[in-house]
Amino acid sequence: MPKVTETVLEINLKNLKQNLEFLKSKIKPETKFLAVVKAFGYGSDSVEISKYLEKSGVDYFAVAYTTEGITLRNAGIKTPILVLHPLPSHFKEIVEYNLEPNLYNRKVLTEFIECAKKLSQINFPIHIKFNTGLNRLGFREEHIEFISQQVNSTDAIKIQSVFSHLVASEDLNEKYFTLNQIEKFKTIAAKLSGQIGYTPVMHQLNTSGILNYANEGQFDMVRSGIGLYGYGNDTKHNECLKPIATLKTVISQIHYIEKGESVGYNRAFIARQPVKTATLPIGHADGIGRQYGNGKGFVTIHGKKAYIIGNVCMDMLMVDITGIECEEGDEVIIFGENITAEDLAATADTISYELITDVSHRIKRVFLR
Ligand SMILES: *Cc1c(COP(=O)(O)O)cnc(C)c1O
Repeated sequence: MPKVTETVLEINLKNLKQNLEFLKSKIKPETKFLAVVKAFGYGSDSVEISKYLEKSGVDYFAVAYTTEGITLRNAGIKTPILVLHPLPSHFKEIVEYNLEPNLYNRKVLTEFIECAKKLSQINFPIHIKFNTGLNRLGFREEHIEFISQQVNSTDAIKIQSVFSHLVASEDLNEKYFTLNQIEKFKTIAAKLSGQIGYTPVMHQLNTSGILNYANEGQFDMVRSGIGLYGYGNDTKHNECLKPIATLKTVISQIHYIEKGESVGYNRAFIARQPVKTATLPIGHADGIGRQYGNGKGFVTIHGKKAYIIGNVCMDMLMVDITGIECEEGDEVIIFGENITAEDLAATADTISYELITDVSHRIKRVFLR
């Protein structure tokens, strides 16, 4: 690996492939695999990730918003793309770009059918989401009648899949609740299939669902995001997955601070004894939020921990390198395979998902193939 000379996010595509294979080893060979590449591929790069996964063999992609799907189509991605949270103002583009909408309430279902009819579509694939407990998006069981009436009255659309989302798949203390969600989903899907006269693809598991409930809730397809990027929400599962992204930077400047001097805005750090500090070219505008400052978060320099001191600035942060042998220009690891995004996120009471999706777009992505 060449030494970095600026802040970069290194993406290891071999690790991505390994994570995909590990997740697939947890499910039956005939179960379809949907790769979730929303939020810029969890902060990495949705286009490169999707191109690589398309070659590696996935059946579906999912993004959150329509524009994310358009980006993939413009990059030449041919695999079906489920848009998890489409808004009616984008329905025309959904059809034009051959994206597949998740329809989650009566308003969006009827409006999408109108749109598909207007654009003379036949059997345009749609996905119906049921709320089995998350109370975020989704129809309820009592809407089955309404859905089947709408669907049976037109050939403009066809239900490609029915799905639901687990509330606490990573938390085994909530196993009873989760198994109940799975049962509820089964009942609902069977009822809907009975009323429309065909059986759409069924799916409910996210990454932690695959790892914890592959027996009970596998159905016809699974949806994985965080697992592909190397995190399993559990130490046991993290051992089998490899983070694909390593955030690196360099030391811009070293300071020797005298006792009583302060570092950074608002004098948030005051030296109680002489300290050596390093200024790094990465700040809260790059995704390392202010909550990591003032001794909470840390980086690694030549294998040694250096804590962030004072307030994180917009474009820079300062770390305590007292006792660490290093020079200006030396490499710094923010997170990666050893100190992971999950470890760093924990220092600020958040989760890997937030830290990795926050890496700003001004940081260069470098791909290791
Ligand atoms: C984001 C998302 C996923 C992926 O979840 P992971 O925990 O990252 O695997 C799956 N399904 C839905 C509906 C989502 O919004």
